[in-house]
Amino acid sequence: MKFSDFNFEPGLQEGLDAMRFETPTPIQAQAIPIILDHKDLIAVAQTGTGKTAAFLLPILHKLAMEHTVTTNTLIIVPTRELALQIDQAVQGLSYFTGASSLAIYGGGDGMSFENEKRALTQGANIIIATPGRLMSHLNMGYVKFDKVQHFILDEADKMLDMGFVDDITKIANYLPKKRQSLMFSATMPPSIRSLAQRLLHHPEQISIAISKPAAGVTQAAYLVYDAQKNGLIKFILKEKEYASVLIFSSTKQKVKILHKELQQAGLKAKSIHSDLEQDEREEVLRGFRSKQTQILVATDILSRGIDIEDIGLVINYDLPNDAEDYIHRIGRTARASTKGEAITFLNEYDQFKFHKIEQLIEKEVEKRPLPAYLGEGPVYNPKARTKRPPMHKGKFRR
Ligand code: AMP
Repeated sequence: MKFSDFNFEPGLQEGLDAMRFETPTPIQAQAIPIILDHKDLIAVAQTGTGKTAAFLLPILHKLAMEHTVTTNTLIIVPTRELALQIDQAVQGLSYFTGASSLAIYGGGDGMSFENEKRALTQGANIIIATPGRLMSHLNMGYVKFDKVQHFILDEADKMLDMGFVDDITKIANYLPKKRQSLMFSATMPPSIRSLAQRLLHHPEQISIAISKPAAGVTQAAYLVYDAQKNGLIKFILKEKEYASVLIFSSTKQKVKILHKELQQAGLKAKSIHSDLEQDEREEVLRGFRSKQTQILVATDILSRGIDIEDIGLVINYDLPNDAEDYIHRIGRTARASTKGEAITFLNEYDQFKFHKIEQLIEKEVEKRPLPAYLGEGPVYNPKARTKRPPMHKGKFRR
């Protein structure tokens, strides 16, 4: 199958050609006909599957055919990074059709709120917003959503985890009853099903390879005590040259400490976490995308949704809380059928949890020996539920 089989409006096809998108990914092949057919849809798909274009293409096609000037599509996302990324995808795909879009997200200054207000009042074809920020605008009364035809929830499970369910329900009340609603989620827990029941109308359902890392990722793990982790990370980074390395740690404190440690070892590293201002976060991301920054240390704010190309290596400095996060983190490498490596550090407390992840992904991950000079690591005993000694409360928060 080729994109040309969809008979998209010629300008949209031109945009696809310019981006060298020829063959639809599985989610695109399945979702596009459903969306073109004006049906509601609930899709289980991870990032990296091409889900963004799966919902944008049919909507941009309809927009190009209708030439509307009002707000036609509302996309709700969990994070500002994802809002910006979808906005950029709209700009790229609609380059020759000229849809207008606007990303609305928190964290900017008063000036950008005013800019958003002006743009919202004038209307943009596609609005991509985080729930909290959009609610602030809706509460002021100037937003007009009476012409919205498409309502999209992206990363719905993440939004529920972040406590946005009430906001989402309120936002939906501002929209016309007669609309097309699409929901994308990496997982399908009962809470998502019940949200879908409330917001969607007889949805079609598709599910794309849930809980399986991309085939191109080579996974490995080291059994390592916490005290050995910094030595090990320097060994890995010096052993082989990678153009881009993304390191995940679970708390912002740990991210900051590791960032400093790597810099002191002469490695070109930056860090990203929720303590940075929006423009600082964007600058760090720009540097990493353009390969000026080789190593980026991040909390899980980067594990989902963010599309950065050619990350050769992802390191889990510590194990994420759940299997889905593991898959999202290592999904930052090997995007769109390239090859990449993912290395996970396992201390004595994380082995049982990692064993559960291995069961979920139906794969036993290779355990590599530590370099001899770092000494012995913990013994591998995945069945033992070794408990971590209690930590001081409030010391390690995300
Ligand atoms: P997503 O899952 O939407 O984050 O997309 C993952 C990556 O795949 C992005 O870099 C897209 O630009 C790219 N992509 C999406 N669809 C295609 C396609 N049909 N052919 C090639 N690359 C694609």
